[in-house]
Amino acid sequence: MSANLAGQNIIVTGGSRGIGKAIVKKLASQGARLAFSYASRVDAAEALLKELPGEGHFHFSLNLAEAEKVDSIMQETIKKLGGLNGLVNNAGITKDQILLRMKEEDFDSVIQTNLKGTYLCSKAVLKTMMKARGGSIVNLSSVIAHTGNSGQANYAASKAGIEAFTRSLANEMASRNVRANSVAPGFIATEMTDSLGDEVKEKILASIPLGRIAEAEEVASVVSFLLSNEASYITGQTIHVNGGLRM
Ligand code: NDP
Repeated sequence: MSANLAGQNIIVTGGSRGIGKAIVKKLASQGARLAFSYASRVDAAEALLKELPGEGHFHFSLNLAEAEKVDSIMQETIKKLGGLNGLVNNAGITKDQILLRMKEEDFDSVIQTNLKGTYLCSKAVLKTMMKARGGSIVNLSSVIAHTGNSGQANYAASKAGIEAFTRSLANEMASRNVRANSVAPGFIATEMTDSLGDEVKEKILASIPLGRIAEAEEVASVVSFLLSNEASYITGQTIHVNGGLRM
């Protein structure tokens, strides 16, 4: 899958690590100008910035738990970019616990960061995209939105909410040529999956028809496609990147 993003201005939330980092690298390699956020690890964001090909990229600090600050940070970022063609709502957290023991604050913070964060950032870019009569928003979901998972009721609810939110947004914005889609990864090699024990890893592998955990780049290529004009007739969809884990 190839895509050309030359001249496009794109914001990626949580772009400093993991899947977000792979997305930022992919988009920069295709000619886009990137503004990507980090929450606390400025060192990781700084190191990534130095790796990127092309000019004019920058990172910015964004904590989705601080809802009241999100709109002004996003407006400032759009202004600095000089317009916006794409937004990737990638930042996301987990606070796993079986429901019997899940604290209300852990339920709330996962919904706040993942679902409300996606709402806040999407809303912040709409006027700019409407004026430009075009844009693409890509929201990171998860296979867990479809399967559920013990210990992840908060996370599963946030991701299922993101997909339903995305379909509504796609409907509302279609007449303005603003597209919105979700990407639902399965198991991806990140810091999170690195730390799993061998036994757990073997169980996971046995459940994946393609027989391996994905590289973050395999998610990034789908995100890049959805942002590009090659996906000009795709909106309101969830694209699964899970090795056949759920068909
Ligand atoms: P990581 O934990 O590796 O990275 C998370 C990113 O989000 C970092 O840039 C982090 O910044 C930022 N972040 C953390 N907390 C906040 C916050 N409160 N506000 C704003 N930004 C924040 O995540 P992954 O790469 O694993 O996941 C990326 C997305 O993909 C998430 O939405 C996740 O749910 C989804 N996903 C991941 C899967 C996987 O296997 N990894 C599978 C399915 C979906 P900082 O570094 O400064 O903390």
